[in-house]
This record gives sequence, C-alpha cells and structure tokens, in this order.
Amino acid sequence: MYIVCSDLEGIYVPEIWINVANHTGIEELKLTTRDISDYNVLMRGRLALLRKHNLKLSDIQNVITKLKPLPGAKEFLTWLRSRMQLIIVSDTFLEFAGTLMEQLDWPTLLCHHLTTDQEGNIIDYNLRQQDAKRKVVETLQNLEYKVIAIGDSYNDLSMLRKSEKAILFNPPRNVADENSDLTVVKSYDELKKIILQITYNQE
Ligand SMILES: [Mg+2]
Repeated sequence: MYIVCSDLEGIYVPEIWINVANHTGIEELKLTTRDISDYNVLMRGRLALLRKHNLKLSDIQNVITKLKPLPGAKEFLTWLRSRMQLIIVSDTFLEFAGTLMEQLDWPTLLCHHLTTDQEGNIIDYNLRQQDAKRKVVETLQNLEYKVIAIGDSYNDLSMLRKSEKAILFNPPRNVADENSDLTVVKSYDELKKIILQITYNQE
C-alpha cells in the first residue's frame, strides 16, 4: 500500500524565509535549502541574522500570518487526502507552521521546533532527529508501506532517494540537473496524474 511523504515549502506554501527576507529587507535571509545544502550551516546563519537585526519570534510569525498557501495547494491536498494517507515532513518549525497548516485544513506535519528566551528571541533550533526525512520514509517502509516522496530541494533528496517513487515538484534548475534520473512535475495536475498512475494497480 502506498503512502505519500511530502515536503511543505515550495510544494504547498511559499518559502517562509524568503518572505521574511522580503518583509524585513534582510537580503541574506533569502538563502534557502535550494542554495545551501547543509541545513545546519543555513540555520546558524539565519539565527545570527535575526540576532543582528533584533528580530524576535513574534516578528517572524507576523510575516507568516500574512502568507497564503500556493494557488491550488488546498484543493490538491483535499483530493490527495480523500484517496490516500499523507504525511508532510518539513524542515520548518512548529512555531512557524501554524497559520499555514490551518489554511491547509491541518494535514499531519512532522517538523522541528525552536527554543526562545523570555524576551521571545529565537536562541536555538531543535531538529526532531538527524536526517528526519529519510527516517520517516524508512519507518513507514518498516510498517509495510511503499512511499511516494514529493520534494523540491536538497534537503528532500535523502527522503526521495529512499522512497519507492520520487517526484521533484517545481525544483530549481540546479536540483533538477543534478538529479536528472528523478521524475519532475510542474503542476498539481501533473502530480495527480502520476499519483494515479502509481497507485492504479497498487497491491
Ligand atoms: Mg521545499
């Protein structure tokens, strides 16, 4: 039986940090997992920038509250979740995801969490576990599921590579070029077609 493991940002919602960069004018916050493949290097840089510019968790949350899911995302998720089980596996943080997940009708989300001090400064981030995306796929396979993995970026590759069927959704050119053996789709309609093909004769 198939189950879907999917990334969040770039698949159903905009890149959160890029929007924070746009709203705050801090250009360096535009770097994402699409640019820097080492997530810890990326996150330490982001936290240093927040400290330097005196931005608190509430400042970031105020930006995120204004964000909307990508056009068609909610409809796609409603379609998908009526047919099969979905787990969103993201490198975002619980403290960031709330208002976006609400707009998507609260699909299951596995992600990380932040540590804040009494003034609301983000002082650290806590990965739920190392290589969490790959481990979710492995665990589901141990439960006798076959995994359709959907991602768009470097941090999705271990999840994609471990899955039975890997799909890149609107990846940046460098990720697509470096993984030219993976299926690339550019729209929810294409994604639906592929999922229907995969699951048509499922065991
Ligand atoms: Mg992504």
